Amino acid sequence: MPEMNHYKADLRELEFALFEQFGLGDLLKTSAFKHMGADDARLILKEAYHFATSVIGPTMVSSDRTGCTLENGTAKAPKELREVWKKFYADGWNLLTASQANGGQGAPSLLGIAVTEMVNGANPGFGMYPGLSMGAAAVIRAFGTPEQKELYATRLENGDWGGTMVLTEPQAGSDVGLSTSKAVSRGDGSFSITGNKIFISSGDHDLAENIVHLVLARIEGAPKGTRGLSLFIVPKRRVNPDGSLGESNDVVCTKLEHKLGINASATAALSFGESGKCIGQLVGGEPAKNSEPGEGMRKMFLMMNGARIGVGVQGLAVASTAYLNALAYARTRLQGAHPTKGRGDKGAIPIIEHADVRRMLLEMKCLVEGCRALVYFAVRMLDDAAVLRAEKKPQEAGEIEEYMGLFIPLVKAFTTDTAVQVSSMAMQVYGGHGYLKDHPVEQYLRDARIFPIYEGTNGIQALDLVGRKLGQGGGKLIGRFGREWGAFAKGMQAHNGWEAEAATLSKSLTALNAVVGKYLEFFTTGKADLVLVSATRFLEVLAKVTIARHLLDAAFKAEAALAKAQPESQDAQFYLGKVASARYFCRNILPGAVTLAEVIAAGDGTPMEMPAGAFSLAF
Ligand SMILES: Cc1cc2nc3c(=O)[nH]c(=O)nc-3n(C[C@H](O)[C@H](O)[C@H](O)COP(=O)(O)OP(=O)(O)OC[C@H]3O[C@@H](n4cnc5c(N)ncnc54)[C@H](O)[C@@H]3O)c2cc1C
Repeated sequence: MPEMNHYKADLRELEFALFEQFGLGDLLKTSAFKHMGADDARLILKEAYHFATSVIGPTMVSSDRTGCTLENGTAKAPKELREVWKKFYADGWNLLTASQANGGQGAPSLLGIAVTEMVNGANPGFGMYPGLSMGAAAVIRAFGTPEQKELYATRLENGDWGGTMVLTEPQAGSDVGLSTSKAVSRGDGSFSITGNKIFISSGDHDLAENIVHLVLARIEGAPKGTRGLSLFIVPKRRVNPDGSLGESNDVVCTKLEHKLGINASATAALSFGESGKCIGQLVGGEPAKNSEPGEGMRKMFLMMNGARIGVGVQGLAVASTAYLNALAYARTRLQGAHPTKGRGDKGAIPIIEHADVRRMLLEMKCLVEGCRALVYFAVRMLDDAAVLRAEKKPQEAGEIEEYMGLFIPLVKAFTTDTAVQVSSMAMQVYGGHGYLKDHPVEQYLRDARIFPIYEGTNGIQALDLVGRKLGQGGGKLIGRFGREWGAFAKGMQAHNGWEAEAATLSKSLTALNAVVGKYLEFFTTGKADLVLVSATRFLEVLAKVTIARHLLDAAFKAEAALAKAQPESQDAQFYLGKVASARYFCRNILPGAVTLAEVIAAGDGTPMEMPAGAFSLAF
């Protein structure tokens, strides 16, 4: 008996973001992507929606309840996911953005990310399996030998095998450099791997016939810390040169974690080489250049950057469907009376008529649209870089990719914090009913809670932002941001009726600049603590200022389209909604970012100044 689908997506909104705001149509005319037409892209979007709502969505609740099990040393994914996994690959969703040379459709990442959003929103636990497999394949494609690409990447891409990223150990979480997993040369180019890893997503399951682990381990004699880590391909079952499967490779799943959410995703503790029989190959193979210090992390970073965007998209996806479910509920749930119009002929009014519910709905709407704009804006840069490379302009391509790096911590951290906030607010709209398992929002809230934690906690993202990205190239990334956003704020003079919003945006930019200046002062006057203690808040400010511009840009495009739309038409309603999102955000959320920036610049070090014992005398 098929379960009920809860996934909701607003295709009009997705099309707006892709085509009207982030220029997918223009992108599809460039030499890099001209093999795909705009109509093809629209069709793909519709088909992805159909796939998400009719194939993946109906498994979300049941696979959460079934969970993963460990039987005779082998992990089993929820049975509901077997058909979904098969159909995902049979229908070619894995090949959407893969290059045509590798048998893919070569679609822009911008279109790919919209599809990924739907896959993840329909069942976040399921999305982990193909997501990690594609990430592992991308690393092997980028850094592997021709044989590794042929043997592993192709099978990871077509779903025969699953992939993982294996960093975490009990004593090495955020501090990956504490990793003690070892690699000892076997003298034939391969390595004996030993170590215990925990929390490995898709670490063991039965959806695919083999699992290819990308494992960080330290070659004997390599330096301590992250510099000494190398990246290895370690299959669960050994692989013969013709791709057939050999014997077990001594990778044992010792435990599956019992978790708050994403219960459909197998989170495994893995032991490598307990019997001394685990063999791995360096990604890229030996020679020496591949075991240079830092090589392993550099390669893993490709996967981690992709995964950070991927986790941001998970956040966006769950926030979006949580909002749309709450909206649907608010339109039908009858409670209370309107302050001036009374109870109406049904004895009570739909709760969407209550001011406080409206406030929550519009807050969710603008946050979801803002996060979508943040993600799509960053991902569009990947496509711009691909276009520049196709035009043989590698330097310009590199500059865009570097600039995109400024936004990766925002995509990962702001979007995922927002997912928790929006899922919680969606539950509030449902009232007590939302707390029950009868509705999907409790699962959204549980599932979303991991997003700010894994793939580098949001605290670590904030440190990456203030410690690395802000100062990169003498501050050129944040400098470019300031110029672009400043020019946008100035250009707002051309839009009548937006004077107050323009003033708030300008104020927020001034406040942001002041913090950047203060940070420099803190760093150079021995007060780095004041930067570290406020990094998370700074990330929030930068994300909100980034989003404000994109919501305003969407509103201006909507206003222009509104002038041509039939009054009362669905399009007119849609565009009015875009205008309202920008107004609400700039009037209700952006001022908070200005205040927060002022607080950061004032430099409060109380958390570091107080003695650790002063937190409580109870322990
Ligand atoms: C469901 C799930 C799936 C996962 N999947 C994977 C996977 O596929 N592969 C994998 O390798 N790992 C995976 N992880 C591990 C995950 O990435 C780590 O849990 C995460 O990186 C944090 O490490 P930790 O749990 O050891 O926390 P800790 O590192 O102990 O951190 C605890 C707290 O201290 C803070 N903190 C730590 N260091 C600093 C610092 N220097 N400055 C400021 N604050 C700091 C953190 O932000 C956090 O708030 C998964 C975890 C879970 C729960």
